[in-house]
Amino acid sequence: MRGLFVYAADGSWVATSEKVDIQGLNNADRDYFRHHRATPDRTPFLGPPIRSRSGGQWILTVSRRVDGPDGAFAGVVLATLDVDYFVRGFAKFDVGSAGSLSLLSSTGVLVARYPFDDNVIGRDFNGSPFMRHAANNHSGTVHFRSVLDGVERISSYHKSERLPLLMLIARGKDEVLAPWRSEASWRMNMVFGLTLLIAGLGALMLRELASRQRLLRVISCQEADFRLLAEASSDMVTRIGFDGRLTYVSPSSLRILGWGPDELIGGQALAGLHREDRNAVETVVEQMRKGERLEALIAYRTRHRTSGTVWLESSLSVTRDPETGRIDGVVAVSRDVTEHKQLEGHLSRLATLDSLTGLANRRFLDDRAERELVLARQHGRPLAMLLIDADHFKAFNDTYGHQAGDHCLQQIAAVIQAHAARPGDLAARYGGEEFALLLADTNEEGAGTVAERIRTSVEALAIPHMGNAAHRVVTISAGGACVIPQASGATVGELVRAADRNLYISKAEGRNRSTVSACISLTGYPPLLIPSPAMQTPIIPALGPAQVAERHS
Ligand code: GH3
Ligand code: MG
Ligand code: MG
Repeated sequence: MRGLFVYAADGSWVATSEKVDIQGLNNADRDYFRHHRATPDRTPFLGPPIRSRSGGQWILTVSRRVDGPDGAFAGVVLATLDVDYFVRGFAKFDVGSAGSLSLLSSTGVLVARYPFDDNVIGRDFNGSPFMRHAANNHSGTVHFRSVLDGVERISSYHKSERLPLLMLIARGKDEVLAPWRSEASWRMNMVFGLTLLIAGLGALMLRELASRQRLLRVISCQEADFRLLAEASSDMVTRIGFDGRLTYVSPSSLRILGWGPDELIGGQALAGLHREDRNAVETVVEQMRKGERLEALIAYRTRHRTSGTVWLESSLSVTRDPETGRIDGVVAVSRDVTEHKQLEGHLSRLATLDSLTGLANRRFLDDRAERELVLARQHGRPLAMLLIDADHFKAFNDTYGHQAGDHCLQQIAAVIQAHAARPGDLAARYGGEEFALLLADTNEEGAGTVAERIRTSVEALAIPHMGNAAHRVVTISAGGACVIPQASGATVGELVRAADRNLYISKAEGRNRSTVSACISLTGYPPLLIPSPAMQTPIIPALGPAQVAERHS
């Protein structure tokens, strides 16, 4: 408080806290004095800011009417307050760089303001936005542009309950909104970024979708082409999945297997496969499944619905998943080669069999003898060969005719065939009226026994043969040789030659007999073991040129 003053009813100074001579001073002309004199109201009256007459600074006046004992106007008590006091108090609040704190009278006169501005103190703000708002409200918040400095502010006011005062706190709108703005802009950036990301992902997805659709179109076109080819083909086209089941079968399956596609699709591809071919086919399919083979051509037997076993020839190719490129199955193009196979079998029989007797021919015998000799060597088992020749057969033909001769040869062949009992044995027509019997795992003694049995069996047939003076029936002579691999490295040629020499001996010794001996090689493989003394004894007599000539006559 700057000063206290007491004025009498006529306005003359009665007392003051100021150090002045009060003699002759009169304030009856002042607004507050006239106000109190005119109204009996004893509530404090806040005067407009005025410049101090004594110091020149801005001050406020707060005054009250003093009544006499009779209730008549007796004078005024006045206190003065420094506007600066309020300004300094307001400065303690942080209202930001664009904020302000203002104290106004209830009529809208600016009493004090921080930041302080000499020019605005005492200015009447009645009619300003916040005063219009305050006319009907006790407190509130108003947003307006300041008429003083043009700054946009958000202002809150509050009216004093006891005094005719109004406090206005204003903050710069930009300052107030700055944190919100920074957060909002951060959020907006985030949203914008996310939107961009979603848009990017969407574009990627669209591209992927488009390429997928393109791929699907290509695949469906390929599929249509495949079906067109497969269904028009006379060959049976099948598609086999990785699990071995048929996923597609072309209509020609009905002709080739007797089953329609609908009956086969979903079933096992190798279902009707012949037992003997199963291993070979499964091995090939497994290799393809593992990617070890990409293509294969296989022939195998399988079941036809009505006509039993058929031969199929299948060309197999692996199929790959169009997306991953991994092997996902096999496509097989199969044709019925039964007729071809039958023809092949027939031809091979023709090539290996003798047409008159049904026995193996000489070529087949030679091949088989080579193989059996290898096996005999591997297993250390003996191998024997018999050569059998009809006695005086020229005379038989001459007497009974060639046809009877043929028939006789067939009967002899049947006898020889009956003695080819073991799997490795082979009866063959060696040429003309000469036969051979290859006896696997048979030693010299065994071969001799077989030779004798054949000889007696042929004789027992009792086919009349007048030209065979000694017996009057058809007889044969046999020569046999046996190779023991451990003891002799003889070749097939040597074995045959040795048998032939023994046949010659049988003939020379009067026919209708057999001669069998071991065969010792002089030129072939070295023996694997040192032969026993018995084996070393050469049984085969060396043939002189004269004997050979006789033999071939
Ligand atoms: P040997 O006791 O010394 O063996 O006298 P051979 O008359 O049997 O021997 P040779 O070699 O002189 O005559 C073989 C005869 O066998 C000649 C031929 O007429 C006859 N022959 C050969 N092949 C056939 C054939 O396929 N059918 C018929 N019917 N006879 C054949
Ligand atoms: Mg003969
Ligand atoms: Mg002969």
